[in-house]
Amino acid sequence: MDNPIIMTVRGAIKPEELGATLPHEHVLHTFGEPATTAPDYDPEHVMQIALPALEGIKALGVDALVECTTEYFGRDVEKLRTLSEKSSVHILTNTGYYGAAEDRYVPEFAYEETAAQLAARWVQEWEQGIKGTGIKPGFIKIGVDNPGPLSEIDAKLVRAAAKTHLQTGLAMAIHTPQDATLAWAELDILAEEGVHPSAWIWVHADTVEDFDAVVAAARAGAWIEFDKINADNVAQPLALCWEMKAKGLLGRLLLSHDESSYAKERTAPEEVHVTVFRELLPKLKAAGFMQAEIEQITMVNPRAAFTVRVRAAG
Ligand SMILES: [Zn+2]
Repeated sequence: MDNPIIMTVRGAIKPEELGATLPHEHVLHTFGEPATTAPDYDPEHVMQIALPALEGIKALGVDALVECTTEYFGRDVEKLRTLSEKSSVHILTNTGYYGAAEDRYVPEFAYEETAAQLAARWVQEWEQGIKGTGIKPGFIKIGVDNPGPLSEIDAKLVRAAAKTHLQTGLAMAIHTPQDATLAWAELDILAEEGVHPSAWIWVHADTVEDFDAVVAAARAGAWIEFDKINADNVAQPLALCWEMKAKGLLGRLLLSHDESSYAKERTAPEEVHVTVFRELLPKLKAAGFMQAEIEQITMVNPRAAFTVRVRAAG
């Protein structure tokens, strides 16, 4: 494409405008509650709790946050846009359905429709915006249930994501914890649909037991996301980052927290989404990571992963 873009909730930006990015976070979600397409967040409470969290990460040097809450468990793109405008943090939202959590956030019609029909719904959000807001998804987010094998409905969601990718160029972030056989089943479906692994983000790769499989996926071109980083577990991602460096795979690595800016029960803002930039990266630097390697992980990789571009196999 002549003029590559990344799509945010405030519209398209040039890839070089994205900046330092957290590739897997949540601002707003209703996870654990019944499925809904119209979450009833209190707008004032959202501003009181979520906005300071986003202003906090901006002050820490984070320019962009990828919001992984799908439709049915709390996606609210207009509130994301308001929060993005007020905080100046770029926010990417998504299209797709979350097939983990035993499919409780998968709509009934997904069982009846084909993968192509589901893809058509997601492509429509890309082409026309989400529910009349004009806000477009910046990536595809789906989930699959763990452990494998892939269920029929989850395999259909993966296939729909691959078809959507080919029609839109949106990257696919797929929740795939613990069981590496699920990842290979997903990559097989991508291959059948003619999609290159570089269109696919292995979400929750830091929870996978078989690290050799993670390395093999990275060598095949997949994005490897360590996204369960928090103040209590920094030693683990620190070790994993060194493993990736030793294997020459820092060019495939993404780092994030999978934390939430907001929760209904909070009475005051919390300091969230901060451990990577405040703790992990300084520790990596102190232990010998070069500044260019830090920038590769936090800026260059997210920019490449989320640039809108069809990545066909072969
Ligand atoms: Zn998440």
